[in-house]
Order: sequence, then structure tokens, then C-alpha cells
Amino acid sequence: MSEYGHIVNGVSSQLPVGKVVCVGRNYAEHARELNNPLPTEPVLFIKPSTALVRLDEPVSIPTVFGGCHYETEMAILIGQSLTACSEQQAAEAIAGIGIALDLTLRDLQTQLKEKSLPWEKAKAFDGACPMSAFIAPPLTAELQHQQIQLRQNGQLKQDGNSADMLTPVLPLLVYISQFFTLQPGDIVLTGTPAGVGPLALGDRLQVSLSNTIDLYTTIIERN
Ligand code: ZN
Repeated sequence: MSEYGHIVNGVSSQLPVGKVVCVGRNYAEHARELNNPLPTEPVLFIKPSTALVRLDEPVSIPTVFGGCHYETEMAILIGQSLTACSEQQAAEAIAGIGIALDLTLRDLQTQLKEKSLPWEKAKAFDGACPMSAFIAPPLTAELQHQQIQLRQNGQLKQDGNSADMLTPVLPLLVYISQFFTLQPGDIVLTGTPAGVGPLALGDRLQVSLSNTIDLYTTIIERN
């Protein structure tokens, strides 16, 4: 399998591969399907760069830690450093949008949540962030009109729209940058719409973002 590197508009990017900052429960229906309360502020967590793999190649998942769920999410590639930024600075720093899987070891996450422990192992493991190539950012207004879809073995499982985010992209970047400096080459995952579920070895996935990204992958076992 190829080493992960950012691709923007079909070309390898000069941006380094950095961390992935993620938001949990950013769509109300997804919070409900996991019986989580709606957050009053964004719930943030981080995947390290070692979580990034290509989504257009077979995706290997661990099978020894219980169930592994897909969560399909719009991804934002950061092109400029952001610390305690404004919405305008955030808009200018977007280098591309893409689509990613926030792979989640759900059984392990449930155990950790029950013990009030951090989710890290369930969300930040090696290969936990299969990532598409990016396309040049759309107009800011279009960020909140992106259709996010996942088909599993031909069946439509997730069909959401970024219009339904509880915290839209620009306020989310502003919020994140109050805690974590976003550096060029970092990625922000913007939360999953409803319809998450378990992956099985041999699954064929089709992942798409509006009519701009449409890719296929298969699920294989981690060696
Ligand atoms: Zn997620």
C-alpha cells in the first residue's frame, strides 16, 4: 500500500501530513442514534498522522478489539496556520475539502466511555482515518451544502448534508483554534451524519461527497 500524502486536485501537495482534529456529535440525528446527549459545545478529539491512510486503496481494519464502525465525514485540509483565528482567517486557510472515514472501535469506545476514560485507543489507532484526495475548496457558502454518502455493499447507509452540522465549518475551525493551533497540512473532520454501523471483512464501500468525489474501497483484515 502507498504511503499517505495529501493530494489536491489530482496533484501531490507540498503540505506536510499533520494531525487530524475531529468533532464528535456534530449532527443531531447521529448523537441520538448512539444515545448521546446533544453537546452544548463541540466535542473534540485528535487522531495522529499515523492514523492517515488512503481511502482509494483497500482499507485494513483490526479484528481483535471488537467491532469497527464506519463514520463518513467531510474533511477540511488546512493550508495556513490558525491560532485563535477569526472566521475570515479560517475561510482563507482552507486548502481543500475531501471525505474521510472516522473508523471507530465501537465496543472498545463503549467500554472506555463507561469507565469515563479517554477514547484514544478506539479512535486514534494506526489506519483509523482513511482519507480521500482533496478538491480545491468551494466558495464558503457551498461548504454547508455538501452531500455526504456511504454505500455498503450497494446499500445506502449514510446520506447526510453538511447543512445539518450543529457547528458549521468556519465556527468549528475558530473553536478548534482556541485550543489547538491548526498547522498547514492538518486536517479537520467535521462529524458524521446518522447511519453509522459495523464493517465486515470483504465489504465493498462507495464513499461520495456531492458530485465531486466518488470512490470505492474494500475492507480487508489487518495483518
Ligand atoms: Zn466521527
